[in-house]
Amino acid sequence: MADTEIKNKPEENMQFQAEVAKLLDLVVHSLYSNTEIFLRELISNASDACDKLRYAGLSEPKLLDDGSATFEIHLGLDKTAKTLTIVDNGIGMNREELIANLGTIAKSGTNEFLKSLSGDKSKDVSLIGQFGVGFYSSFMVADKVDVYSRKAGDKTGYRWSSDGKGAFTVAVHDDVARGAKIVLHMKDSADEFLDAFRLRQIVKTYSDHIAVPVILDAVAGEKKDDEEAVKAETLNSASALWTRPKSEITADQYKEFYHHVGHAFDDPWHTLHFKAEGAIEYTSLLYIPSAKPFDLFNPERKNAVKLYVNRVFISDQLEGLLPRYLRFVRGVVDSSDLPLNISREMLQNNPILRKIQGGLVKRLLKDLTARAEKPDEYNAFWEVFGPVMKEGLYEDFEHRDELLNLARFRSSTHEGWVSLKDYVARMKEGQDAIYTITGDNAAMLKNSPQLEGFMAKSIEVLLLTDPIDEFWASSVGLYDKKTFKTVATAGDDLAKIKGSETEEKKEDQGAASEQAIKDLIEALKKSLGAAVANVRTTDKLKGSPVCLVADTGGMSLHMARMLKQHGDAQSLAVRKILEINAKHALIKRLMVLSGAAFDCAAALLLDQARIVEGEPVPDPVGFAKRLSAMMEKALG
Ligand code: ADP
Repeated sequence: MADTEIKNKPEENMQFQAEVAKLLDLVVHSLYSNTEIFLRELISNASDACDKLRYAGLSEPKLLDDGSATFEIHLGLDKTAKTLTIVDNGIGMNREELIANLGTIAKSGTNEFLKSLSGDKSKDVSLIGQFGVGFYSSFMVADKVDVYSRKAGDKTGYRWSSDGKGAFTVAVHDDVARGAKIVLHMKDSADEFLDAFRLRQIVKTYSDHIAVPVILDAVAGEKKDDEEAVKAETLNSASALWTRPKSEITADQYKEFYHHVGHAFDDPWHTLHFKAEGAIEYTSLLYIPSAKPFDLFNPERKNAVKLYVNRVFISDQLEGLLPRYLRFVRGVVDSSDLPLNISREMLQNNPILRKIQGGLVKRLLKDLTARAEKPDEYNAFWEVFGPVMKEGLYEDFEHRDELLNLARFRSSTHEGWVSLKDYVARMKEGQDAIYTITGDNAAMLKNSPQLEGFMAKSIEVLLLTDPIDEFWASSVGLYDKKTFKTVATAGDDLAKIKGSETEEKKEDQGAASEQAIKDLIEALKKSLGAAVANVRTTDKLKGSPVCLVADTGGMSLHMARMLKQHGDAQSLAVRKILEINAKHALIKRLMVLSGAAFDCAAALLLDQARIVEGEPVPDPVGFAKRLSAMMEKALG
């Protein structure tokens, strides 16, 4: 569209996207107790906008000719008009961008996130804190916000305006400078922010690390030390934090930089600041969050570590700066060894970038290994990011051993989180595999009949409840020369493992004759027909008469159910085996039944095995009828 056409358009009224309206409602009703963070958010955006233009200027230098090439952020106070103004000369926004960026939320998964808010205010506060509201936080302190913006390289500027109550307007505006000017019409309750002293303090606290100077413009009538009117003054150190020596950076400065660089509202669980020297030189300041990002499992979520080359921001979208399983890490990497003038796409495949990735992973895993020495702290990390870290078990062959050592699991015999090292140390005589069981939750798994034989001999089983577990466990192979084995496929192992003596004695209930068992198996196969691929005995069961397992070598029943939920037809191919406990009284009784009574009992046992395993009962009406018939008989 030509500029003249746009110019003739009158002010347009628009509605916020429903999600924004809901978010604004939460924000305005003061979910954040410290409203002062609005300034941090706006300065953070202004600094990002300068970074973006600096990068765009590398390939299109004329973008910088328009206006000043020195990037600055200005704060302006007007006590009479009750406004606070934040101005930057960064990339700016055109009409479409104003509407999209300040009228919708681009973060994938926002809708799901907002739906998950419970309506319970106290819970909302902590949840929304993890989400971050950026620009919209201005409405905590302002009852009207005007944004004047002109995109670098464009002629036409715009004014965006809103009272944050559901709608906003956009109109062409004359004489808008490149970048963005945000005018906050302060609420009466937010008077405190119309004070130079307070602004100085907020910028020092939250934005000192911002690499662009944040300048407080001269404030008419404001006295400093009761003597002279305040002159324009730079409030921050304006040097990139990661370039400063560690000894000169305080814990609070590290924390505030994390809030800025990670667009985060929690505190970092871990901070890693180092300079790599040698063949390739780079500085890195990385953070591991303490709270789970709301979109951690969203497939569209990109790596958010920012790459700088010689302090020029290049991208926060580069795949390959860190592997996928470390996608929760935030921070910056700055290298002078990477070329400034190649496209992001080319950079992605640059061998130097790959070497940097190797260095970052090594340092991160080393730090995690060190922190794992303190189980309480480490478990808090694992609780949040363990399911993502486990993706590394099958994606990152090179670091598999380290990752296996970092992994923690729920266990059938121990409370809390256990490591593989602990597990192996507790293995029984004659045990040469690490036993696992997969399912939806640990409590249910603990009661699974599949575990009975293992429980009876106090053999530990790892309870795997993350969807990802189905994938790595079959591909990892060995830990400390021990294979991973699911309990469903390990029935035969039990006989050769020595359990504790008292439990061994309890076990002796006496089995039926071999021939009787053989006959029963044949009869069950005939009666159940195609519903099962096979029937066999197992040592695994103690209290339960039967259980259902997937055919050895195939996928587990849990995995098949997961695939089915995602509409994958492969799940149909899983062959099911009914395993029977030949020592169980019920099974022995079955041996003397025949005809309709036998068929009824066999069908009931299979359905029972299905229910316990979490499988659907294909004919609930038939099941209920058979159960009633049995109860009638039993109750006389
Ligand atoms: P976030 O910063 O987390 O993306 P915000 O709501 O704060 O979320 O901002 C939304 C988007 O609006 C930003 O991603 C950016 O594209 C744009 N934006 C905000 N402030 C500015 C600014 N001062 N200059 C240019 N673009 C901006």
